[in-house]
Amino acid sequence: MKRTAIYPGSFDPLTNGHLDVIQRAAKLFDRVIVAVAENESKHPLFTLAERLALVKKAVAHLPPVATDSFDGLLVEYAAARQAGTIVRGLRAVSDFEFEFQLALMNRKLDENIETIFMMPKDTYTFLSSRIVKEIARLGGDVRPFVPAHVSAALQKKLKPARPRGARI
Ligand code: ADP
Repeated sequence: MKRTAIYPGSFDPLTNGHLDVIQRAAKLFDRVIVAVAENESKHPLFTLAERLALVKKAVAHLPPVATDSFDGLLVEYAAARQAGTIVRGLRAVSDFEFEFQLALMNRKLDENIETIFMMPKDTYTFLSSRIVKEIARLGGDVRPFVPAHVSAALQKKLKPARPRGARI
């Protein structure tokens, strides 16, 4: 039987930290589905379609990795995709409490689905989508932290609007 894992998240946008976790998971499972959560309540910077497209491009070279989006209960989505494992990334102790709570709640909801945690390369432990957006917003260079196409998308999204009446 094929072993399938789901790696869920907002991916607003995907960072090199996410990619590191995806690459590690791809070595352990026959199929890894990166599942982009709709998460409208979090007011994402990128639309669901944009986040999905950015992930898709980043994982195109990894054959076991597929992309999808989902809304609603993660365990229900995982069961529907016949995935027995949920992968989450752990950056630091600060992630632990929330992730622990989430994993135990998901186990209560469906005992057949296990959550596993993967630690990224140490250089990515400080990386988050939130920090990357903040740096980009302030005009900083995010190229060391995200794939090139994500950096370009951030620049495009956050480009300051041209003042009214300004000449091209
Ligand atoms: P969510 O909104 O579900 O937290 P994120 O896109 O922020 O979605 O993160 C998805 C998963 O990836 C989470 O488990 C998060 O802890 C993990 N993650 C985020 N950034 C990193 C990183 N730099 N290294 C390892 N894991 C990460």
